[in-house]
Amino acid sequence: MHEIYDLHCHSSASDGALAPAELVRRAAAKGVTSLALTDHDTTAGLDDAKLSAEQQGIKLIPGIEISTTWENKCFHIVGLNFDPDNQNLQQGLSGIQAIRQERAKKIAEKLSKKKIHGAYEAVTEAAGTGMITRIHFAEFLLQNNHVASIQDAFDKYLAQGKPAYVSTQWADLDTALGWLNDAGGVAVLAHPLRYNMTNTWIKRFLTSFKNSGGQSIEVVTGNTNTDEIHRSSKYAQQFSLYGSVGSDFHSPANTWVELGKLAPLPKSIRPVWELF
Ligand code: AMP
Ligand code: MN
Ligand code: MN
Ligand code: MN
Repeated sequence: MHEIYDLHCHSSASDGALAPAELVRRAAAKGVTSLALTDHDTTAGLDDAKLSAEQQGIKLIPGIEISTTWENKCFHIVGLNFDPDNQNLQQGLSGIQAIRQERAKKIAEKLSKKKIHGAYEAVTEAAGTGMITRIHFAEFLLQNNHVASIQDAFDKYLAQGKPAYVSTQWADLDTALGWLNDAGGVAVLAHPLRYNMTNTWIKRFLTSFKNSGGQSIEVVTGNTNTDEIHRSSKYAQQFSLYGSVGSDFHSPANTWVELGKLAPLPKSIRPVWELF
């Protein structure tokens, strides 16, 4: 059978629009045969996703996208194929979850200073039992006509350097990679070209990432072009990293990105699933 992998996507356990079971149904309908649900800093969606995957006859690989800090910059690390019950990992994640909660309060306070009130209550309600992310704030700002679009919300309020941006110390990179390794998982650098970094800095980062036990890099993400695939492949080769593929799907409303709709991994790159 022809396998279709999608190893990066989000459910309502973080900033995705679909409940985990619904997300898995959509992935199956789009032809995905192996899916990793990778919510921001939580594994809370994995049980429902697993059950749904069994019903759909597709494979669910345990996943997560961990917010980490390295040299005061934020990097997203996708963890794959780990034991979700690992104590070390879950303890670490509860730390980041508390940081997220505190950050949400601070973002809301900053919005209040701009005469935008009620954000904390609104995002808490919208996130439910899931993680509160900046997407929730963007949706609140859009619904209340403070901005013209989600992008506009980031550009006017939420992005780095904007009035409601809160600088955050996430999990230390080396520490987070330690949790993943301890839980028997693989660490993948998510969307390597989305950090606004020079080549020199990416290489410094990857050196550190490798030294801390990182094994893989996303070579194919949703919406990438051949030039970007080529650039990420070069990093994979230079640092002997396995290549991963993931759409980073969040919502059916974004018609540019779809589950399983990904360019093939270049033949020269060893696929990360060889490690599973
Ligand atoms: P957080 O982890 O809470 O800071 O939220 C980050 C999430 O916001 C990312 O995973 C993206 O889904 C989304 N995001 C970040 N920047 C933008 C942007 N400029 N436009 C739209 N979504 C964004
Ligand atoms: Mn997100
Ligand atoms: Mn990310
Ligand atoms: Mn993501």
